[in-house]
Amino acid sequence: MTAQVIDGKAFAAEVRGKVAEHVTRLKEKHDLVPGLAVVLVGEDPASQVYVRSKGKQTTEVGMKSVEHKLDADTSEADLLALIDKLNKDDSIHGILVQLPLPKHLNEDLVINSLDPAKDVDGFHISNVGLLGTGQKSMVPCTPLGCLMMLRHHHGSLSGMDAVVIGRSNIVGKPMAQLLLGDSCTVTIAHSRTKDLADVVRRADIVVAAVGRPEMVPGDWIKEGATVIDVGINRIEKDDGKTKLVGDVDYESCAKRAGAITPVPGGVGPMTIACLLANTLTAACRANGLDEPEGLTV
Ligand code: NDP
Repeated sequence: MTAQVIDGKAFAAEVRGKVAEHVTRLKEKHDLVPGLAVVLVGEDPASQVYVRSKGKQTTEVGMKSVEHKLDADTSEADLLALIDKLNKDDSIHGILVQLPLPKHLNEDLVINSLDPAKDVDGFHISNVGLLGTGQKSMVPCTPLGCLMMLRHHHGSLSGMDAVVIGRSNIVGKPMAQLLLGDSCTVTIAHSRTKDLADVVRRADIVVAAVGRPEMVPGDWIKEGATVIDVGINRIEKDDGKTKLVGDVDYESCAKRAGAITPVPGGVGPMTIACLLANTLTAACRANGLDEPEGLTV
């Protein structure tokens, strides 16, 4: 079997197109422009790239984009004061604090100071609780993007066996909640899991979110399974240049899987598309308007 490639780049463009259409309607009918504020503390080069890309894509779909770049030594009090101001600003519907924060700042405290309705990353403890209890919440962008691709590929996921490798708060755990919400039988694997190969072999759906380059070999994959590769790892090639690879060994997994996401061009582009979708959803909810269909759970 050769797997069908799930093209996250094309799907993300479709999602952005739907967001842009909805934003145009909101402007025309309700004079409403969704606004996203991104807060970056310090000068981490990877974070700077992400923030630039988020700002550009936000503007491209017709939303208002605001960036707050703060010095690396910004005090917790000053950061919390900025968040308080953004929480109270009616033109801002989504607030994203770029992680990781410098060590002297308490990430949990900062994230939990966001207005949960504006927490477009879905990391606030209220959103985590709402998701866990099957209630309407802001859903973390990366798992939301994975779920959208799975629903698009399979239609219903009901009754499927899903294995999520990784139990982080930003990917693994919310991914498992979403799959459970779609009536999969879910196993969460992690670094202490015994016989990981056997666990993965049972799965109709494998979501790998580990951060270890090409860790999952093809012979762990059940024939015809769907493989969603969240990992983004930069490795050095023989010629000294670097390249991005996922957490699964793409070549061997693609020979057994029914469908697979590539790295790059799979989950990555969907993450920012879902951030835009979440900002739109937040703007609709804040104004008592219908939520866009198919852009949230
Ligand atoms: P974390 O480091 O927070 O979590 C990694 C998880 O993998 C942990 O739960 C850990 O288990 C588990 N793990 C580590 N080693 C093994 C092993 N040998 N076998 C089984 N499980 C193992 O990572 P994140 O969840 O933040 O990210 C995971 C990957 O996804 C990274 O490559 C990251 O770059 C990428 N990512 C991609 C995004 C995108 O937009 N495409 C967005 C976010 C992340 P334990 O808990 O026991 O330590």
